[in-house]
Amino acid sequence: MSRWAYVNGRYVPHATARTHVEDRGMQFSDGVYEVIAVVGGELVDATLHYERLDRSLSALEITAPMRRAPLEAVLREVARRNRVTEGIVYLQVNRGVAPRNHAFPRDARPSMVVTARRGQPASSPALVEGVRVITIPDIRWRRRDIKSVSLLANVLAKQAAAQDGAFEAWQVDEDGMVTEGSQSNAWMVETDGAVVTRPPSHDILTGITRTRLIDLARRDGITVIERAFTPREAARAREAFLTSTSSFVVPVVQIDDAVVANGRPGAVTERLRALYLDFVAPRGKRN
Ligand code: PLP
Repeated sequence: MSRWAYVNGRYVPHATARTHVEDRGMQFSDGVYEVIAVVGGELVDATLHYERLDRSLSALEITAPMRRAPLEAVLREVARRNRVTEGIVYLQVNRGVAPRNHAFPRDARPSMVVTARRGQPASSPALVEGVRVITIPDIRWRRRDIKSVSLLANVLAKQAAAQDGAFEAWQVDEDGMVTEGSQSNAWMVETDGAVVTRPPSHDILTGITRTRLIDLARRDGITVIERAFTPREAARAREAFLTSTSSFVVPVVQIDDAVVANGRPGAVTERLRALYLDFVAPRGKRN
């Protein structure tokens, strides 16, 4: 099946999709992105993603390439052309094309790229059974709330995890507290069943899955506490888990060498995972 991409106003075959050599996204990582899950052909929490995109763009003073309605039409069309009913769409907006010079160009038009990919990682047995994470120092810049394409530290973190046979790397700040994973938010469950995750700030990316899950948990009567925690605390917690657009809610059963509880997904995590799966299920298929 041929794949399609959207590049600056055109739908083009994925194999030949190109941006300019002086696109600032390539030269300076001067751009932002969003990854939106597609379930049953629907974009999951699209509005929350558009709101975060707007925050990222305005933090970097990049002009939005288009309004929400046409943006959504492009995202849907790329999903449709790639026959993605279960998977993700990827959107990247760069400041634009201009002769290489660090300061903002005066009149660059933002460039925009959209791709889509099939996949149902949330149902993969390895993720359902729980994963191991490693911990590493957080070496990133101080505006992690901006969903910037400048992901080198995240790439190194994920590679360190992969080399260690782990699923994810939990990054730890100078105070010894977990910030987040390389591409996910980190959570633990206290003895009394309260769920803990780091509060929104410049220190973490406020995950859309995180935001949605907090809402679902509270509606279900589960206490959610937004505070930072240490890897040691999480390893000794009743449960731990992580969240992201691409993997939803994943039990964490080992942190470095420490097995969390009995090494199996816990009841609170299972409940949250079920709540989230029910939330994303296409209308009509909800329990
Ligand atoms: N934290 C980081 C650093 C990420 O890159 C991501 C997702 O890519 C997340 C958290 C989770 O965010 P979301 O739930 O919006 O996918």
